[in-house]
Amino acid sequence: MSETIFSRIVRKEIPAAILYEDDRAMAFRDIHPQAPVHFLVIPKQPIPSLAAIGEDHKELVGHLQWIASKVAFEQGLAEGGYRVVTNIGSDGGQSVPHLHYHVLGGRPLLWPPG
Ligand code: 5GP
Repeated sequence: MSETIFSRIVRKEIPAAILYEDDRAMAFRDIHPQAPVHFLVIPKQPIPSLAAIGEDHKELVGHLQWIASKVAFEQGLAEGGYRVVTNIGSDGGQSVPHLHYHVLGGRPLLWPPG
């Protein structure tokens, strides 16, 4: 399993603006926000990306998406809408190899992405 900056956030070795936490997952603000609201939802288990999930991770992935929806609502994004995206690998633009969902909102977002 990969060791990344996110594992250090999970262990509270480095600070993060945590919006949600339970025994399996965390949501915290992105350090370089790309929208007025930009947070990440991660499993505490260091799964490298969505490409690495197995059948035993299906419930965990649903849990992560539930957290994305819950925290987006709490951050006031539900009415205007928002985007949930996960980057996978080099072509996907992934820079931290620990599964994470970006949740972005608070402004109109362009589509398609670059
Ligand atoms: P990726 O490029 O892998 O899809 O997204 C990684 C995200 O993690 C980036 O948006 C980046 O700003 C964010 N990030 C990287 N290092 C840190 C950190 O130490 N703390 C926080 N809160 N976000 C980070």
